[in-house]
Amino acid sequence: DYFKIYSENFKLKKTHLIFTLEIDEIRLNDFKKINNLIESKMNHLDFISKIDFIMSSHKKLNIEMEKTKTNSQIAKYIIPIASGKGGVGKSTTSINLALAIQSLNMKVGILDADIYGPSLPRLTGINVKPNYHEKKLVPHNAFGLQSMSIGYLLPEDSATIWRGPMVMSAINQLLSEVKWNNLDFLIIDMPPGTGDAQLTLSQKVQLAGAIIVSTPQDLSLIDARKGLNMFKKVNVPILGIIENMSYFLCNKCNSKHEIFGHGGAKKEANKLGIPFLGEIPLDIDIRSNSDEGTPLFVKNPKNYVSTLYLDMAKKIIKNVEKNNLSSPKIIFN
Ligand code: ADP
Repeated sequence: DYFKIYSENFKLKKTHLIFTLEIDEIRLNDFKKINNLIESKMNHLDFISKIDFIMSSHKKLNIEMEKTKTNSQIAKYIIPIASGKGGVGKSTTSINLALAIQSLNMKVGILDADIYGPSLPRLTGINVKPNYHEKKLVPHNAFGLQSMSIGYLLPEDSATIWRGPMVMSAINQLLSEVKWNNLDFLIIDMPPGTGDAQLTLSQKVQLAGAIIVSTPQDLSLIDARKGLNMFKKVNVPILGIIENMSYFLCNKCNSKHEIFGHGGAKKEANKLGIPFLGEIPLDIDIRSNSDEGTPLFVKNPKNYVSTLYLDMAKKIIKNVEKNNLSSPKIIFN
């Protein structure tokens, strides 16, 4: 009774039929009925091997279109990097991965959204306020990366108490009021916490997939699971888990010391059916270079640990491209 169906609702790709229908939100419950009806009418047609249904309400369609528009002003792929708790090396991993992706001929930006403890000023050695151009903040150039941090804007010792709504508005501003220039990848160093940031991000832009950083200790793995669940709740795919401070690589005896046990994150990833992106050792060069404002990947790109970051960067690029192809898409007529 409710619907008229036109030929524009159907697209036939060889033997694959895609049926799209815009439907009022209050009638979304009728979705299944329409599916069944169409399937029963089409099933006997042997030139059709597969039928996919795409239903979308006006409101949802508008939100998706808005997101697509925002993404096009920011980056092709937006990747949040998160952890369940602080201190696991999320920021260090974010910048080295951003640099490794850049070395594969990509234009990369890094957004330090860790408003509770911004690390980018320390990691890049940049401590000056960004300029404004056409009412937007211009990112600083950090080793070729376009970089923006709340830490560039606030005085170093300012103690701000962030409540949920403030977190959301700060993240919104960092996303849309920055003049990102034609990025392939935007890597976002996420704040640990309650999920406000994840929620805001997923409402505002299309996320290509999230990466979780964990250390091998059990406690941190439990926290990593919390980080994973925050993204699952808002339907963001997980690109993979990275185990940081995985083992100690001794440069005197050249052997691996597995101080916290080994393989926890990999096992956890397998259990959850999530890709495992790799392990980074506890390495004195990572710490000393980061704290001096030159990330290891810049200081020594041929270093063993740098090659590990590079391997992960390759996996990340491959995974986003794969996800992007297979993720369900709303078809705009
Ligand atoms: P988070 O962003 O999770 O709070 P950081 O990236 O700021 O953590 O790292 C915390 C500290 O640990 C920093 O001093 C950093 O240099 C150090 N660190 C991070 N990863 C490693 C590593 N793989 N080896 C040695 N030190 C590391």
